[in-house]
Amino acid sequence: MAVKGNLRTPIVSVMGHVDHGKTTLLDKIRGSTVADGEAGAITQHIGATEVPIDVIVNKCGNPALRDKFIVPGLLFIDTPGHHAFTSLRSRGGALADLAIVIVDINEGFKPQTIESLQILKRFKTPFVVVANKIDRIHGWNPQRNMPFVASYNKQNERVKSELDRKFYEIVGELYNLGFNSERHDRINDFQRNVGIIPISAMTGEGIPDVLMVLLGLAQKFLEANLHYDANIPGVGTVLEVKEEKGLGTTIDVILYDGTLRKGDTIVVGSLGKPIQTKVRALLKPRPLTEIKSEEKFEQVSSVTAAIGVKISAPGLESALAGSPVRIATPETIDAITQEVQSEIEDVQIDTDSMGITIKADTIGSLEALVNELKKENIPIRKATVGDVSQRDVVEVAAIEDPFYAVIVGFNIKVLPDARDKVQDTNIRLFQNDVIYRLIDDYKDWVQEQKELAEKEMADTIIKPGRFQILPNCTFRQSKPAVVGVKIIGGVVKTNLDIMALDGTIVGRVKGLQSSGENISQAKVGMEVAMAIEGPTVGRQIKEGDTLFINVPERHAKRMENEINDSLTADELETLDAFLELKRRGNPFWAK
Ligand code: GDP
Repeated sequence: MAVKGNLRTPIVSVMGHVDHGKTTLLDKIRGSTVADGEAGAITQHIGATEVPIDVIVNKCGNPALRDKFIVPGLLFIDTPGHHAFTSLRSRGGALADLAIVIVDINEGFKPQTIESLQILKRFKTPFVVVANKIDRIHGWNPQRNMPFVASYNKQNERVKSELDRKFYEIVGELYNLGFNSERHDRINDFQRNVGIIPISAMTGEGIPDVLMVLLGLAQKFLEANLHYDANIPGVGTVLEVKEEKGLGTTIDVILYDGTLRKGDTIVVGSLGKPIQTKVRALLKPRPLTEIKSEEKFEQVSSVTAAIGVKISAPGLESALAGSPVRIATPETIDAITQEVQSEIEDVQIDTDSMGITIKADTIGSLEALVNELKKENIPIRKATVGDVSQRDVVEVAAIEDPFYAVIVGFNIKVLPDARDKVQDTNIRLFQNDVIYRLIDDYKDWVQEQKELAEKEMADTIIKPGRFQILPNCTFRQSKPAVVGVKIIGGVVKTNLDIMALDGTIVGRVKGLQSSGENISQAKVGMEVAMAIEGPTVGRQIKEGDTLFINVPERHAKRMENEINDSLTADELETLDAFLELKRRGNPFWAK
């Protein structure tokens, strides 16, 4: 491939919300260059498309710029989505050097737009925002493949101001997320401002600007990152693990440094021990002109970074998308295997002894999910790559704490036998392909469960109550004793035991009456008649005595530790007085 100096082609990823136009934009970048009669100039790689600098400067109508740029072109990863972005890693960073965040100008930001921006911020990846579908603005007069400003100037005033209005909504949304932004042609300093380019992926308007701004960003921010050495052993990242007819399991790889040859021994990350194998064939897509050929792929004997290539080799079945690919010699193989292993283990997350179980489709996305959960202080018991299996379900079903009998899965499937099993358990399963939705869903559920549990507890729990037997109000001595009482704290209900100040149980509340009516409870301040089963007035109880409702230890403990927020100040005070009496005999009571 063409290189200038020793800088490789920057790798570009397109991110954004579903349906906002990622695929259309990539198709346009590929297709329009073909339509311009430059078919030979763009190269279709495995999983990526390379647009050389010559094509870009021609499209922008300014070949004189050719010499201003030091990078040889742009390599677009064909799998769009923020998900692909996080999965594709190199040496712990993002594989993509640059990114495009696409947003439908008519719809504004959506969850995946926001998530893309957060991911880019975390990886410190330079990016540009494209505000897509400007051709949908009512009255838009399309100007195929023109640079944005030229097209804008051809629109009438009403259309222009409608575009401006929508555009500044996007500026506002970016501002709220902590980014200063401005239209790309008005920016002097891309370090301080994010460029927004209005485009139509459909008509091609603004696409020359996208290519230009990306080149500019590469030039400005990436020079140091793009140095590569064709003479070193190749280093890459697995894009996808794919079954191919006649070839068995193959891996699609983006090589970002060095050279890879047929016959090389490679080490590839896997779920278990790294795979050591020998490259049987290196495959590239067959050029469009030869599409009639039987073979889908063309064999090559070597490839040099940056490039997308398919590797056919034995034993790749357990290869892991997103993991490293390294070349080894007999001397280096042990060390390199170790390195690949530790690169993968690094993301196999230090877990907590108790917590939720998480699954994700690639190591990159697993790591992103773990990071976000940690930020929320949500403990993780186990974090692994892959679909939810029966084994996962069995393990999680054994967890007693319902808040942790939870599987949170990002972009994964639940295998059929696992799904059947889940239905027999009370495991809670969360699945989504937007990380922060997943986390929000889990948090909402936890909150809901807590509130439910509290409410249930508050309904059934025996609350503290303190009352005094009033003087000269004994209506009956015994069987049952009936006396007038005043509730001086908390609440008193029927069918509860009564405790004296020395801790003995003196009887049980049999009935309560107020103004001649039976009532089931009496609250602080009320004066009522109480029937007490057990004691005789003048023996076990006397007029003027202060008595407590006997709260069972388990209930006292819960009120003190778990639901004290839901108790009134008066109930808390009564509980404290009760606990003090209990703890005189046993300091650890209800602790
Ligand atoms: P993705 O899910 O982000 O890959 O979105 P797609 O590229 O599949 O686009 C979603 C829909 O929007 C498709 O029907 C596209 O034809 C349409 N679309 C994409 N870009 C444009 C555009 O610039 N203008 C118009 N009018 N439609 C577009």
